[in-house]
Amino acid sequence: MERKVCEECGGKIEKRLVEYNLLGFSLGKFEAEVCNQCKEEVFSEETFNKIEKKTKELGLWGLHARVKVNQLGNSVAVTITKPISEFLKLKKGRDVIIYPEDKHRLIIEIPED
Ligand SMILES: [Zn+2]
Repeated sequence: MERKVCEECGGKIEKRLVEYNLLGFSLGKFEAEVCNQCKEEVFSEETFNKIEKKTKELGLWGLHARVKVNQLGNSVAVTITKPISEFLKLKKGRDVIIYPEDKHRLIIEIPED
């Protein structure tokens, strides 16, 4: 069923081409139902499948992972999965800078070579 009215705010829904960005890459424009008031964008399942396909083509798939924390001597270690390490071009021996952003986020900065 096509939505005519936004469930969130009651605004009018319009079909529009919306640019979809992921990890700093534009995947292109995709049709979305956009609320003219709150600007909420809703993609259909069919459109999501297209976005997923494009994500895989660009090698951006699987960059979200749930991993376990391991003990390594007095420190703990978190595994960076293969898709993420390939995406970031991280290799053994590379120096990175780590720091917590807050109590729930750890930043790993990769300086330029
Ligand atoms: Zn709305």
